[in-house]
Amino acid sequence: MQTQLNITLPNAQYPIIIDSDQFDISDLRPWLKDKKVMVVTNEIVAPLYLADVLNLFEGHVVHSCVLKDGEQHKNSSSWLQILDALAVHRFNRSDVLVSLGGGIVCDMTGFAAASWMRGMSFIQMPTTLLSQIDASVGGKTGFNHPQGKNMIGAFHQPKAVIINAKTLATLPVREFNAGIGEAIKYAGINQPTFYAWLSENMHAIKAQNQKVLMELIASCCQFKTQLVEQDEKEQGVRALLNLGHTFGHAIETVSDYHYLHGEAVALGMVMAAELSANLRLCSADIRKMLENLLQAFDLPIMLDADYPAEVVLQRMKSDKKVINDHHRLILLKGMGQAFIAEGVNDHDILQAIKACTY
Ligand code: NAD
Ligand code: MG
Repeated sequence: MQTQLNITLPNAQYPIIIDSDQFDISDLRPWLKDKKVMVVTNEIVAPLYLADVLNLFEGHVVHSCVLKDGEQHKNSSSWLQILDALAVHRFNRSDVLVSLGGGIVCDMTGFAAASWMRGMSFIQMPTTLLSQIDASVGGKTGFNHPQGKNMIGAFHQPKAVIINAKTLATLPVREFNAGIGEAIKYAGINQPTFYAWLSENMHAIKAQNQKVLMELIASCCQFKTQLVEQDEKEQGVRALLNLGHTFGHAIETVSDYHYLHGEAVALGMVMAAELSANLRLCSADIRKMLENLLQAFDLPIMLDADYPAEVVLQRMKSDKKVINDHHRLILLKGMGQAFIAEGVNDHDILQAIKACTY
């Protein structure tokens, strides 16, 4: 089973190939001719899929670079590790990097590609649900600074996104569910009928029914593509993809990554719904609807009291989206009706976090 989508931007166009049981690079063969290939992965994914992927590039000069696993390693050392490997093996701008892993590997590889010799090509081969439905599409690349998530980065579009849905079979359930957090995000943003689809197909998704998973991935890639095509560099509607993320990023860093990205986004969406209801933008039902779906996938809906609301708010102030101390947040007028709210005040945010803390 295979589905192909295409993303078209002012200066880039690329395919998203979603296959149920292989990484299909056949369409890229002519373009790949004579290129050296460096596959970037991590210590968890390498034993599972690296040999298969290296085989795909038989006939090329191919190297690999294996990073340490975890958000704490989404940093400048890992970035330099990739650049050092490129330098040792004398890669130049016409060669290609391949990311093989979750969102962290995708983001790091993309940024290494953006920065090596002022920009080389790269291909995304995402292997987590979260990276297949979100992180690998759209060209946001980067890594964390101690001050906050993804503070260092660039927009740099891949040449292709090659998805092999079968890789999800080895993903821990907690990671799979974290990916569903980002899927629910699309329902909140502008896809109310997707909320219904997720509810109806909940059991099939949990059972990883192949057909339903393929549909899930294709739908989410389509939703993301639509927003990115309208606004590649996040000057407008693309910001809607940050639903739950301003809260979420703060929760990730404050908790020292106790919460996975998708879990923190889940909490952030509940907080955004709570805040929206308090500001009389939407009814309290929206929070309940989100909670029902999040809970069905064992995602958190209440923040652990170890992380006080005041500390989370303080961390939110260092987020990239704070303009002159006025918070810019994605709030909800209803399910599937997210909008960019400017100038939300600290007091209201604090109340919302507290109302979503144990
Ligand atoms: P991750 O990259 O840490 O992967 C999760 C875990 O699963 C890791 O331990 C990883 O090694 C392991 N893993 C990966 N594939 C596997 C497989 N097939 N089988 C078994 N284990 C596997 O986390 P993630 O949730 O994929 O991505 C989160 C990151 O993505 C965050 O850093 C976030 O900021 C970023 N992100 C970026 C964008 C974007 O637009 N660039 C969007 C959303 C999230
Ligand atoms: Mg995200």
